Amino acid sequence: MSDPLAGLYQELILDHSKRPIGKHELTDFDAEQFMRNPTCGDEVTVRVRFEGDTLAEIAWTGQGCSISQASASVLSSLATGHTRAELTERIEAFRTVMRSRGQEEGDEELLEDAVAFAGVSKFPMRVKCAMLSWTALEGTLAKLS
Ligand code: ZN
Repeated sequence: MSDPLAGLYQELILDHSKRPIGKHELTDFDAEQFMRNPTCGDEVTVRVRFEGDTLAEIAWTGQGCSISQASASVLSSLATGHTRAELTERIEAFRTVMRSRGQEEGDEELLEDAVAFAGVSKFPMRVKCAMLSWTALEGTLAKLS
């Protein structure tokens, strides 16, 4: 079986999984969302704090495979400072890439380091790992709307 991490961006994903960004408890937050990926055992809780319509802070806790951890880290690195509409746009863009089975590379302007996960979309079993924290962020936005 081929390694879903193999390829150009392997290092970036491994790096984020080893030194995750935003992985801490946020005590002052507006919404939180827990998500679980039963096929892999990944768990993540995303917490967000908004100032007006702008995401001021995002943090997450949880455990799981390197893809789920790295994806939550990359999400944290790019989400701060964006409005809800911009976040929704990014979540949708990431979902499109992850559902493309390797056909979509993703817009780097929107997704920044998250384009590194495009290769994961060839492995349907791992797509949920990569999407988990993004779906959790989407859940927090739904609670706030
Ligand atoms: Zn996983």
